[in-house]
Amino acid sequence: MESGEGTKRNPLKRTFEQFISSSIPVPQSSSMDCDDESHQVKGLYELAMARNVVAVSKAGVAKMVALMMIKQIGEALVDSNGDKKLIAFLTPTVDLVHKQHKEIKSHTNLRVEAYFGARGVDGWDADAWAKEINDHDVLIMTPQIFLNSLRKGYMSLERLRFIVLDECHQTTGNHPYALIMKEFYHQSKRRPKVFGMTAFPENKKDSEDRLRELESLLDSQLYGVDNTIQVDHYIAEERMICRFYDRPQPLDPVTRAELESLELKFDAVLLNCQNSCDGVEQEKCQSLRDRLARNHEKILFCLDNLGTVCAHEVVKGRIEKVCEVQNECRVYNGCVTQYRAYLREVLSVIERSSAAARQQSSKLHSLLEYLKSLRRDTEAHCIIFVERSMTAKVIARVVKKIPDFSHFNISYLTESNEASAVGISPTSEIGVSESYYGNKASILFRTYASKKRAHPFKCSSVICFDLPKTSGEYNQSRQRTFGEDPLYITFIERGNVESLNQISHIIQKEDSMSHTAAAGDLGDSRVKDLATDINLEYVVESTGASVTIGSSISLVHRYCQKLGGKTQSIQMPKFETLNDGWMLRTKLTLPRNAAFETIIGPEAHESKLSKQLVCLEACKKLHTMGALDDHLVPSMKVLPKINSNSIVKGLASAPGSTKRKELHGSVSVRLMSGTWRDKLDTAVFYAYKMHFVCNIAQQKFSSFVLLLETKLDDDVGNVDVELYLLSKFVKASIFYCGQVYLDVEKVAQAKCFQELLFNGLFGKMFVKSSGVRQLLFQSEESLWDPSNMYLLLPVETTDKASDGDLTINWTAIQSCVSTVEFLKNNALLNTRNANEVGSSPSIIPSDSGVAELNDSQVIHLANRSVPLDDLKEMVVVAIHTGRIYTILKVVADSSSESQFDGDATRYPTFATYYREKYGIALKYPGQPVLLLKQSHNSHNLLVDFRDEGMSLKTEPGSVKGQNRKPQQHAHMPPELLVGTDLRTDISKSMYLLPSLMHRLESLMLASQLREEISRHAGHFNVSSSLILEALTTQRCCENFSMERLELLGDSVLKYAVTCHLFLKNPKSHEGHLSSQRSRIVCNASLHKFGTGRKLQEYIRDCPFDPRRWTAPGQLSIWPTPCNHELDTKEVPLDERFFSEDTTLTIGKTCDKGHRWMGSKTISDCVEALLGAYFVGGGLVAAIGFMKWLGIEGEFDPSLIHDSIKAASLYSYAPKAEEIATLEAKLGYDFTTKGLLLEAITHESISGLHVGHSYERLEFLGDAVLDILITRYLYDNHGNLDPGELTDLRSASVNNDNFAIVAVRHKFHPHLLFSSSSLQVEISAFIELVSQLSGNVLAPDTKGPKVLGDLVESIAGAVLVDSKLDLDRVWKVFEPILSPIVTPDKLELPPSRELIELCDSLGYFVKQQFTTNEGVVHADLKLQLEDRLLEGQGSGPTRKAAKGMAALQLLKKLESTGISSSSKLNNGDKDNASGESITEPSISAPKQDKPFELQPETSSAAASDSCKTNIPVLPPINMRKGGPRTALYDVCRKEQWPMPAFQTTEKSFRTAIKLGDTMGFNSYKSQINLVIPGFDKIEVTGEERADKKSSFDSAALTMLLELERRGKIAIGVAK
Ligand SMILES: [Zn+2]
Repeated sequence: MESGEGTKRNPLKRTFEQFISSSIPVPQSSSMDCDDESHQVKGLYELAMARNVVAVSKAGVAKMVALMMIKQIGEALVDSNGDKKLIAFLTPTVDLVHKQHKEIKSHTNLRVEAYFGARGVDGWDADAWAKEINDHDVLIMTPQIFLNSLRKGYMSLERLRFIVLDECHQTTGNHPYALIMKEFYHQSKRRPKVFGMTAFPENKKDSEDRLRELESLLDSQLYGVDNTIQVDHYIAEERMICRFYDRPQPLDPVTRAELESLELKFDAVLLNCQNSCDGVEQEKCQSLRDRLARNHEKILFCLDNLGTVCAHEVVKGRIEKVCEVQNECRVYNGCVTQYRAYLREVLSVIERSSAAARQQSSKLHSLLEYLKSLRRDTEAHCIIFVERSMTAKVIARVVKKIPDFSHFNISYLTESNEASAVGISPTSEIGVSESYYGNKASILFRTYASKKRAHPFKCSSVICFDLPKTSGEYNQSRQRTFGEDPLYITFIERGNVESLNQISHIIQKEDSMSHTAAAGDLGDSRVKDLATDINLEYVVESTGASVTIGSSISLVHRYCQKLGGKTQSIQMPKFETLNDGWMLRTKLTLPRNAAFETIIGPEAHESKLSKQLVCLEACKKLHTMGALDDHLVPSMKVLPKINSNSIVKGLASAPGSTKRKELHGSVSVRLMSGTWRDKLDTAVFYAYKMHFVCNIAQQKFSSFVLLLETKLDDDVGNVDVELYLLSKFVKASIFYCGQVYLDVEKVAQAKCFQELLFNGLFGKMFVKSSGVRQLLFQSEESLWDPSNMYLLLPVETTDKASDGDLTINWTAIQSCVSTVEFLKNNALLNTRNANEVGSSPSIIPSDSGVAELNDSQVIHLANRSVPLDDLKEMVVVAIHTGRIYTILKVVADSSSESQFDGDATRYPTFATYYREKYGIALKYPGQPVLLLKQSHNSHNLLVDFRDEGMSLKTEPGSVKGQNRKPQQHAHMPPELLVGTDLRTDISKSMYLLPSLMHRLESLMLASQLREEISRHAGHFNVSSSLILEALTTQRCCENFSMERLELLGDSVLKYAVTCHLFLKNPKSHEGHLSSQRSRIVCNASLHKFGTGRKLQEYIRDCPFDPRRWTAPGQLSIWPTPCNHELDTKEVPLDERFFSEDTTLTIGKTCDKGHRWMGSKTISDCVEALLGAYFVGGGLVAAIGFMKWLGIEGEFDPSLIHDSIKAASLYSYAPKAEEIATLEAKLGYDFTTKGLLLEAITHESISGLHVGHSYERLEFLGDAVLDILITRYLYDNHGNLDPGELTDLRSASVNNDNFAIVAVRHKFHPHLLFSSSSLQVEISAFIELVSQLSGNVLAPDTKGPKVLGDLVESIAGAVLVDSKLDLDRVWKVFEPILSPIVTPDKLELPPSRELIELCDSLGYFVKQQFTTNEGVVHADLKLQLEDRLLEGQGSGPTRKAAKGMAALQLLKKLESTGISSSSKLNNGDKDNASGESITEPSISAPKQDKPFELQPETSSAAASDSCKTNIPVLPPINMRKGGPRTALYDVCRKEQWPMPAFQTTEKSFRTAIKLGDTMGFNSYKSQINLVIPGFDKIEVTGEERADKKSSFDSAALTMLLELERRGKIAIGVAK
C-alpha cells in the first residue's frame, strides 16, 4: 500500500484512494502519524454504518465515506428472501448526477445508472422502471425524479437499502428532499439507511431549530467531523389513544354582547375612579382595571371552551377573593365595590345563559366521562396537562365539587403562585408525591409551563387535555414515568385538521430524533396510528402510489388535462367555497366527461387546506372508480382494472376474463384405474351392482356389476341415476355389495366379454393393420390401459333393486368367449381379398347339434343350428363385420336370392353382395333371411331431451335427442351370424352403461377433488353431487350447472374477505379496505388461486359425447389426436397456451385431455366450489376451502373483541335516548352501544375521518346483507334458473331497496349528519317513498346513497355486536327487509323488460352499437305498424348503453299506450275470449337477444332495402308447424309486426275428410300482416281438420303471397 509519508501533502486524496482500493471495513490505520482526516473518515464511516448520519463536513470526507458505504452495502444487495435491493444516490443537479455517476462507476463493480429529465424518464411507465430497477444496483438521480417515481408507485422505499442525499441542507419546505422524507420515508415500514451530506455555510444563520428540523426530517443525527452532536432520548413504549371531542359551540351573541358591555361599562366606571385619584391609589385602580380585563377574557375563554359551569366557578372564586379585600381608601373601596358589582352582574348573566347544553363543553364532558370510568380504580393516577393555569385550577375546582370524584385526591400544579386565589392550596412538589403515594386515587392537573420538573410519578394515565404546542411541551408530557406503561390520551377536536397536523408533526419530529436507524421502529407505531387517523394521504396499497394533501390539487389538474384528450381543449376543475357555519368546505366540480361531477370536501378552517382536502377526496374517489390507475396516473380506460403483474405480454385480456382462452389438461380419475392387467393370481374387486327399472314394466334390462380396484365413497358408490330413453325412462340404482375375487381365468373371460360386446356394439371389430384387415382379437396390442381398468359384467337379475345377492352371469360371459374363439378360427375368411372369388373358404361350424331336426324348423347360423322358436331376441355377431345384432324375426318367403336391401343395382341379391363384397359363398342360399335390430351409437341418456326447454339450451351440433336417427333394421342371411347365449336384455343394458358410467366417473372426479381439499383443509361434509354441480359448466348441457352455486359463492367470498379485512385492519378506512378486497376477489386473483391448485383440470366443460366414451377393452372409433405439441397430460401455464382467438372451439378435448377453456370459467368455478362448501358445511367449510386455495379469510375471534372494545370507547351518553329508540325499531339490544352510534354517524359530522363514522361498518354490512339475502334466495328458489336468481339478487341487494327500507322503518331520523344538501335530498326521497305503492322506484330515480348505507352499516354493527353471528343478523333483518322480492314481482332491467314486452306483442327490436373512444352508443329501433320508434343511449359498456336506450324506448312506447301493464291486460282479455291469437309453443320464439345488425345496415332505409335486397328464405318445411315458423322468421328479420291469426271453426254432424284425416270439425284461419310503409296483407288458408294445421295453411298462403308481391323469395328444395 502506497501510504508513505511522501504523499502526506495531499492526505485527502491519498486516503481517498487508499480507502477505495482497500478492503472494507477500514483497515487499522497503517500510517504511523495520526492523520486527522484519515481518522475523520474512519470515524464517520463507522458511525454512518451504525446509524443514520448527516455529515457536516468538507465535501471530500463525506463523499468518500458515501462511496465506501455504497461499496460495502452494494456487496449484499440481495436479502434473505431473495429480493434484490437498491441504493439511491440523490443529488440536486443534473451536472452532479453525471459527476457522481462517473465517480461511483469507476470505483465500484456495481451496476450504476444515472437518471435525469433528458432521458425522458418522466414518460416512463411501470414496466420501464421495473426494468431499470432490476438491471441496476445504484440509481443516481435528482430528487425530483425520485419523488415522481415514488409518487407514481414505480419505486418504493422498501426496495431501497441505502439512500444518499447530497447537499441535504436543502431538506426544508417543499423541496423534493423534504417531500420524499415526509411523504414516503416517514410513512415507510422498512426504512432504508440514510446518509446525508452537507457543508453548512460558516455563518450561523441556521439556527439550532433549523438543524433540529433537518435531523428530524432526515431521521438522522448531525455529525460534525470534529464535534459530535448527540441527542440521547429515551421514550418509553407507550400506549397512545386519541379522544375526540366536538368543536365547542360558539357563545350565543346575546350573552357575548351582554358581557362585553358589562366589561366596557365597569371599565369606564373604574377609569373614572382612577382619574379621580393619584399615586398609589391610581396604580391600585389601574391594577383593578387590569384584573377586570383579565377576568373578562378568562370568563369568555371558559364560556367558549369549557362550558358555563367553569365560567361560573371562575366568577364565584373571584367574588370570594374580592370579599377579603380590606379598604384602605374610599375611592379604592368604591372601585372594589364596583368590581364586585361587576362580578355579580356577570354571574347573573352566566346563570341566565346557562342552558343545559352549555353546562359542559364537549371537551370537558369527554374528560369527565373518562375520569368517571376510572372511579372504581383505586390505582388510577392521572396527570392532566393543560395549557393555562386557569384551566388547571378551574377544572380542579369543578371536579372537586362532583360527588363522583369524592374519593380522588385532586390537586393542581401551575407555574404561578396565584393558585391560592381559587381556594385550593397550591400543591408543592412534595405534597404531590405524597398524595401520589397515598392509597387514594389521584388526579393532578398541571400546565405544560409549570417549571418544576415533576418527580417520576407512578402514573397510569397521562392526558393531554390541551395539545402541546411545542416539542418542549410534548416532551414535558412524555417525561419518564416508572411503573406500568401509562396510557397516553390526547384530546383532539373533531375535524380540526390543523391541530392534528400540529401534534403529528411534533410527535414525528420527536420520534425521529429519538431513535437511530439501528434502534429500529421505536415509536413508529404511534406515528403510524396517528397518521392513519388523520388520513391526510391516500395510498394505493397494491403499488404504494400515494397522493397527499400537498399533491392532491395538481393531480386533479392533471386528471382534468387528460380529459381534454385529443381535442386539446383545456379542461379545468372548478372550486367553490361553501361557508358552512364558521368552517369552510370546498365544492369541486370536474369537467363534464369526468368520472364524476361534483364532490364536497370535509371541513377546514382555511381555504387552501379545504381545497387540498377536497382534491384528496376526489383523487381517492377517482381511483376507486378506476379513473386513476393503481399508480394514480389518469387512465382513460373505463374497463375494470386488471392486475398488471399477471398480464401476459402480447395479450390484452387478463386472466379470469371471458375474452382470454387457455389450454388446460384434464385430471385423470384415479378410481377408474387398475393395476390388475398383468396379474397372475386372483384379483380382488369392490363390486357395485347396477340395477335397472324401466317405467314400462315389460321392458327388462339385465343387471350389471361394476368391479373396481378401489372402494368408492358412499355418496358415489350408492346412488340412483335417472336415464332418459327416447320413449321411456330407466332408473338405475347403484349400490355396493362387497368384494369379489376373480382368478386369472375368470378375469380373462370377463375381459373377453367386455371386448366383444363394447366393440361389437359401439366400436369396431376389424382394424386395418399394415393395409390388411384384421380381427381385433388377433392384434397383439392390449386394449387395456391401466388408467381405465374396470370390469362391467352382467349379473343374474333379481326383482328387488337393493338385493345384495350377486351372481355373475358366467353363462353369458363364456358364450362370448366361445364366440370370440369362433371368430378367431374363421378370421382367415375375413382377411381374404374380395377379388379372390372361387377359393372362398367355408365357415367351420363349431357344432352341429341340431342337425337332426327337420330342416324347415331349423335355421343354420354360422356356428350352430337353432330351432326357429329360439331365434327371437338372440344376440348375434356378424361374422364378416363383427357387428352385434339382435334377431327380430325370420323374414317369411325370402332367401339369399331375394332382392338385396342395399344397392340393388350393383348387387341384385344378398348372395351376390356377400360373394362380391366379402368373397363369401353362401352354403345355405335357400334359408330365409333374418330381420335384425342394428346396434347403434349410445346416446346421452342423462338429460331428458324430450323436454323442449332443455333442447333450446343445447348448442347446435351437440349430441341430442333430435339427432337420433330412426331405428334401422337390417336383413342378413343366417349363416353369416354367430349365435350367442346372450339375450336382448343384456344388450339393452349395454346401451345404458356409457351414460351411467359417465355420471359415476363425474362423481368420482368430484370426490377426488373433495379428498384433495380435505387433505389440506380438513374434512367437511360436502356431497360429491354438490361438488360436481360446482365443477360443471352450462356448456355440459347437464340438468345442473355451476351458476347458482357461483352466485352464492360470490357472496360468500365477498363476506369472508370483507370480515377478514375489517377485523385485521382496524385502522384502515373503507376505501383502503375496498381496494384490498377487490384485489382479492377479482377474477384475475381467483384465476390465480384456482390454477395454483390445478382446479382447471377438474372442470367439466363439454357435453358428454357417448361416441367418444370407451369402456376398458374398447377401441375408440372417434380418435381425436392431440395437436397441441405437448407430451404431457398437464398443460403448463404458459403464454403459448393462451389465446384470444375467437374461432377456437371451447371444451373439445383431445385424446390427451387437453381442451381450450375460457379463462373466466376457472374464476367462476372457484366461486361455485366456495358456494358448494358453504351449502354443504356452512361458513366454516367455505373458509376451509378458501384456505386450501390460499385466500386469506379466517377470522381471529380475539380481533372481534378488539373491534367491540374500540367502539366501546365512544361516548354515547348524549345520544342515549336516540340509541334506545333505534334499538327498539330494530328489535335488537346492542351490548356495545358505541357500535350503533358509529353506524349512524355520517362522515359529515365526524369531520375528516377522525372520530368514528359509519363507512367501515357499511363496508362490512354491505357484504353481510349480500350473503344473507343471497342465501335466502338460494334456499327459497331452488327451481329458479341462475339468470333469474341473479336478477332477484340485484333487485334485493341494492342501495335503492335499502334506502326505501330505511325510510319505511324510520331509521332516517337517527342518522347523524351535518349537511344541508343531504337534508334536502333525504326529505325529497321521503316524500317520494310516501307516494310509492310498491317497493320499486321508477327507473330514473335513485335513493340517496346515505340511506342505503345506513341500513348496511346498522347490519354491520349488529354483526360485530353479535360476534359475527350471521343468523342473529338475519333474525333482525329478515322482518326489516321483508317482503323480499319474489320472481313474480321482479322488476326487470329496462332492456329485458323491453325485449319481453316486444316479444309478447310481436314487435322486434333492432339494435346497433358503435364505440367511440371507449364510450358505447346504443341505437335501438322498433317498428310499429304506423311508425318507427327509436331509443338511444350511451355508456361505458354495451349493457349500460342498451339499458339507457331501452328506457327511452319504453317511455316512447308508453306514450303510444303500450306498456308492460297494458300488455298484461291484453293477455287477460285474450284468455277470456278463449281465442288465443297465436299458438303458445311458437308465438314467442325464445331468444336471448334481439337480432343484431351489422353497423353498416341502415334500418331507416328499410323499405328501400327491401326492394333491392329481398330476403331469401330456405325451402319451407312442409311438416306441421313449418310454414308458421318460416313466417315468424321473416317477420322477425324484416321487423314487421307479428302477424295476427283469426280462426273460424265449423262443426259437422257427420265426419268429413280433410286431407288425410276424418273429423267432425273444420278450421279455417285468416292472417293479417302489416308491412310498415308498404301495405296490409290479408290472406285466408284452407280448411283443415285441426286448428294448428289451418294456421300452417294460412301461413303458407301468406308466404306465397309475399313472394308474389316481391317481398321475399323462397328457396327451392333440392
Ligand atoms: Zn392435446
